[in-house]
Amino acid sequence: MTVGWTTGDSVHNVALPAIVVTSHTMQSTGSYQERVNETLKVLAIPGAFLAHYRLPLHRECEDLVSIGLDMFDREQRMEPMAAVQWRVMIAAASRDGIVLLAISAFRSFDYQRKIIERKLAEGQTIEQITRASALPGYSEHHTGRAIDIGTPGSGPLTEEFEQTPAFEWLTRRGQDFGFSMTYPRDNSLGIMFEPWHWMFRGKTDL
Ligand SMILES: [Zn+2]
Repeated sequence: MTVGWTTGDSVHNVALPAIVVTSHTMQSTGSYQERVNETLKVLAIPGAFLAHYRLPLHRECEDLVSIGLDMFDREQRMEPMAAVQWRVMIAAASRDGIVLLAISAFRSFDYQRKIIERKLAEGQTIEQITRASALPGYSEHHTGRAIDIGTPGSGPLTEEFEQTPAFEWLTRRGQDFGFSMTYPRDNSLGIMFEPWHWMFRGKTDL
């Protein structure tokens, strides 16, 4: 699919990634793609930048259940199957003396948009912002199956999480519960190393 719009005095024609259906709710394909395109246009994301943007599009999950409070006492939600596996996983970790804390699970399209707007307002470039934050429509957190994980004694959303027993445990046992890390060091997506970001992809070995 090719979309064109005007930025300044030049017109960019941008090939966008194909829609990835990540929820069993059926929105019309066109409306979601149009919503993303319109938002990127309002945010004035340059077409030349989008032409090289490599993240897949993710739909918002509309079927969410609570997973309880996060480490900041905010309620977090996930897609039902991911929520069940999260609870099973943290119970298993607890039996091994490991504490896994939720930092951020489901995030809506509009919430992600506000994150980007705030960082743009702070003067960050779009290249800097997208090393750490997905553009609205492209965050795995929209699916309700991604979760940022913390543990006591480690600063939230910092690389020091890699040095914790919790990370060692997740690396060893996460896949048993269907969770894997999306952004390892030097990943091909151009995203910074995020040892805290895990996504429920299902159990492939059962
Ligand atoms: Zn994350």
